[in-house]
Amino acid sequence: MSATATPPYANAIGVHGLVWAGAWSEPEAHSTISKAKAAGYDLVEILFMDPSAIDVAMTRRILDEYGMRATASLGLSPATDVSSEDEDAVAAGNALLGQAVSVGVDLGLEYLGGVVFGALTKHSAPVTAAGRRNSVAAVRRMCELAAASDLPIGLEVVNRYESNLLNTGAQAVDYIREVAADNLYVHLDTYHMNIEENDFGQAVRTCGDLLGYVHIGESHRGYLGTGTVDFEGLFRAMAEIDYTGPITFESFSSTVVDPNLSYTLAIWRNLWEDNLDLARHARGFIEAQLRSAHRLS
Ligand code: MN
Repeated sequence: MSATATPPYANAIGVHGLVWAGAWSEPEAHSTISKAKAAGYDLVEILFMDPSAIDVAMTRRILDEYGMRATASLGLSPATDVSSEDEDAVAAGNALLGQAVSVGVDLGLEYLGGVVFGALTKHSAPVTAAGRRNSVAAVRRMCELAAASDLPIGLEVVNRYESNLLNTGAQAVDYIREVAADNLYVHLDTYHMNIEENDFGQAVRTCGDLLGYVHIGESHRGYLGTGTVDFEGLFRAMAEIDYTGPITFESFSSTVVDPNLSYTLAIWRNLWEDNLDLARHARGFIEAQLRSAHRLS
């Protein structure tokens, strides 16, 4: 019997769509899903910045053709900021979140999340009390819509330059208790944790059973292991709390651009050109970290 026959972990390993293509036309969806499969991944994370632009039937057909699973993520904009006091922006944000859930359910997603609690942008003032109440109400409504189809919703904790509401895992845990929905989880991202958390392992333990999704990104968002992220501390803590949810590789380079997202995230440098080499390397890196962590725990 081969020692590698049964992995010691249950996590699906995913890859973000922007590793492969800047949009989601049929050739781009096909290229993304087939290359993710070739690089050894279980699932692809589809960018849902404009869910109405996703061709559900086409996407489902290609996912099924390659036996791939799918998740999706989006970030709100100032025009759809549910954490503002602007009634029009809150209404537009609620509509967008409802549409994202609807398309996500039709697609059969395993998870839908991102910066769904406010605008993904650099804010110039703290969130107000009324803005926070609007955000909690919007996310509660989104969770109710998703609960009917057992779709888990995630709050992606991002750094201070991309949100003024949730910058740490502990803040997300408090926010989830306020929303009080059974299908709402914390989505941690190592790129952001590297900026905001005291300790990678402690952040994971603080989330505990509320951890529902994890983005694996390096401190500069390029090749894993070439930056300053404490992957050992993160993976050991995930094994300790018995985290079995998806682990998705996220990386950005000026080689593959969606202006809607890439410019918001300040992706100005070319960190890689060969996405297949990048993704294969990341898949191996994540598996090695998982195997080491589960051997230790
Ligand atoms: Mn992320």
